[in-house]
Amino acid sequence: MNNPLSDRINKLSTSQTLAMAALARELKSQGKDIISLSLGEPDFNTPDFIKEAAKKAIDENYSTYSPVDGYMDLKEAICRKFKRDNDLEYKPSNVVVSTGAKQSLYNIAQVMLNDGDEVILPAPYWVSYYEIVKMAGGIPVEVPTTIESDFKITPEQLEKAITPKTKMIWYSSPCNPSGSVFNREELTALSNVILKQKQDIYVVSDEIYEHINFSGTFCSIASIPGMFERTITVNGVAKAFAMTGWRIGYIGASEIIAKACTKMQGQVTSGANSIAQRATIAAVDADPKVLNEMVSAFKSRRNLVVGLIQEIPGLKINSPEGAFYVFPDVSHYFGKTLKGTEIKDANDFAMYLLSEANVATVTGEAFGNPNCIRFSYATSEELLTEAMRRIKDALA
Ligand code: PMP
Ligand code: GLU
Repeated sequence: MNNPLSDRINKLSTSQTLAMAALARELKSQGKDIISLSLGEPDFNTPDFIKEAAKKAIDENYSTYSPVDGYMDLKEAICRKFKRDNDLEYKPSNVVVSTGAKQSLYNIAQVMLNDGDEVILPAPYWVSYYEIVKMAGGIPVEVPTTIESDFKITPEQLEKAITPKTKMIWYSSPCNPSGSVFNREELTALSNVILKQKQDIYVVSDEIYEHINFSGTFCSIASIPGMFERTITVNGVAKAFAMTGWRIGYIGASEIIAKACTKMQGQVTSGANSIAQRATIAAVDADPKVLNEMVSAFKSRRNLVVGLIQEIPGLKINSPEGAFYVFPDVSHYFGKTLKGTEIKDANDFAMYLLSEANVATVTGEAFGNPNCIRFSYATSEELLTEAMRRIKDALA
């Protein structure tokens, strides 16, 4: 029989974060002592007050379809959160709740991009942006940044990347995979470039790591004068509230975009999980101070990992200000042979660490930066210390 699959799926790449996590799981199940620093998910449990809200929702029989764009009281709670944390005045009609921020991003691409529209992706970018844009017929335009500039795109670089076909720019701050956080001045300078163009350029601001931020400042680009109408603010509860499996994300956007996302979702998945939506009300209404303990644990892990990586010859690292990733430059090893294995690129380097050190990471190539690899440090200090010891030995 011929290949039954569509060109669309044949052209799609597998998510490399999920693929590496699956490979690490498989090797573990074969009895290998793998330390997985591949998947970006908190190792904490969902806070009890959120679990209680979910249990209550089950008992109260929240068991039917919800409105496609989310329960009204959840959307109102999300508007309070946008006001409280981001100084953004969204109304419930601007909000769409989805099955994870991943679906929010997919909706946006599907409803905003025509074939051939260009989407600027400052690299490194989160792995799925590239494929989600491609699936919608868009053309991802990668703009490389380097560790020397903390992986932040400059206004000059942005200006140079804009063409008459540019429709959007997508970025995350704090950034997955680099951990970089844009401050208000930096976002204002980028906004000025966007606002002076003749064409309308839209921005997807992925703020899912908002609360995992050690920089002391956070800025939503939608709060910069002129940017509100052209920004789609993406957020969710997966990372900050350790709810990756609950699958709730949301957007704040102009009504026309929000309505289109609702139309899209109504044909594909309908409203997100009803119980998880009820639990999310408790999460977004909570004072972010409830996250202090978790955030300070991430900060001390960041310090630990950065310190340990600095001791490994040949790895270049900066000190990221947020999320729970470090993204060292490993290009020193390209072209070298380690214990009989030739290291041509970051893919080889990541596979070498997996086979020689039993440590799973993700190649930077997945994020549009072929010189780096990503470590997720969302695991215990003990495992992180052991992982770095193994890596140091494997590279000695
Ligand atoms: N954006 C970024 C930058 C992420 O790291 C993730 C995490 N996988 C997502 C979006 C998707 O989040 P969710 O789990 O809510 O779909
Ligand atoms: N966002 C996480 C990561 O980058 C989870 C995996 C995924 O959704 O792709 O590792």
